Amino acid sequence: MEQKAPLTLYLAAPRGFCAGVDRAVKIVEMALQKWGAPVYVRHEIVHNKFVVEGLRDKGAVFVEELDECPDDRPVIFSAHGVPKSVPAEARRREMIFVDATCPLVSKVHVEAERHHAAGLQMVMIGHAGHPEVLGTMGQLPEGEVLLVETVEDVTGIAPRDPARLAFITQTTLSVDDTAAIVAALQARFPAIVGPAKEDICYATTNRQAAVKAIAGRIDALLVIGAPNSSNSRRLVEVGRAAGCDYSQLVMRADQIDWRAMQGIRSVGVTAGASAPEVLVNEVIDAFRARYDVTVELVETARENVEFKVPRVLREPG
Ligand code: SF4
Repeated sequence: MEQKAPLTLYLAAPRGFCAGVDRAVKIVEMALQKWGAPVYVRHEIVHNKFVVEGLRDKGAVFVEELDECPDDRPVIFSAHGVPKSVPAEARRREMIFVDATCPLVSKVHVEAERHHAAGLQMVMIGHAGHPEVLGTMGQLPEGEVLLVETVEDVTGIAPRDPARLAFITQTTLSVDDTAAIVAALQARFPAIVGPAKEDICYATTNRQAAVKAIAGRIDALLVIGAPNSSNSRRLVEVGRAAGCDYSQLVMRADQIDWRAMQGIRSVGVTAGASAPEVLVNEVIDAFRARYDVTVELVETARENVEFKVPRVLREPG
C-alpha cells in the first residue's frame, strides 16, 4: 500500500457557528415545532446552503420578500436584520412574525436611531447590497445614512453638515480594513462620533484573529463558508494579507482543489460564522483520506456567548 504523505492540519479556534447564527437556526426549528410546516423565512436565515437545505427539508420555505408569503402562515426574518418597513408591513397584514435578527445587529440599529434622534447624519461602513446593510440603512429615512465601502469612498461623500455626523459599521467586516476607513473618516470629519472602535462583532473579530495566528505557518488555508457570507470572505482576505497566498473559500469538501494541494506539508482550516461543524469534519476526513494527518488546534480565544430565542417561542401553546 502506498504511504500517505505527512500533513499538519492547523484547526483554527474559534471557527464556525456564532451565537447569532445558532439562535437564528433554533428560531426556525422551534417555529416549525410550534406552528407546523410551512413556516416562511424571509431571505436565507443564515448564509449557508447546507443549513438552509436542512431547514427546507423540515418544512421551511425561503423567500426574498414578504409579498411572497401568505397572510396566514408565520414568517421569520433572517439573522442579518430587516429594514423597518418589513415588520411594519407584517403587522399591517396581521401576520405572525418572529425576528431572528442577531442581537448584535439590533444593537447597531439602536445606535443608528439614537444618533438620528440627536440630529446626526450617519455614515455606514459596509458592503453595498448586503442584507445587513440594507436592514441597517432601512432603520432610518432615506438619505440619513451614507454608505462607504473603502477609504477612497470617504472623499466622495457629501454630508449635510460635516460637523454633525456619526458612524456605524456592518458587523462582519475586516477589522484591519475598517480601522483604516474609520481613520480616514476621523481625518476628514474630526467631529464624527461613533463606537469606541467599530461595530464588528466578537465572532468576526475572533475568527479573524485565529486565522492571523496560523496564516504565517501554513502552505494553504481553506475557509469553509458560502460565497455570499461576508464574514467567510473576509477570512480568506485576512489569510492572504497575513501571509498565506493560497487562501480559498470552499463550501464543502467536494470543492477542494486537490491539484493545488499537491506537495503541501501544512494546511489551515477554519469556518465562517454560518458554517456548521459537520462541514469542518467532512473537510478533515477528506484530508485524512489522502494524507497522514496530524491535527493541531490553534485556539486564540474562548467564546461563551449565547442568545435567548424570542419569548413567543419559549412560551407553550
Ligand atoms: S456574525 Fe456576529 S453579528 Fe453576525 S450573526 Fe454572528 S454574532 Fe451576530
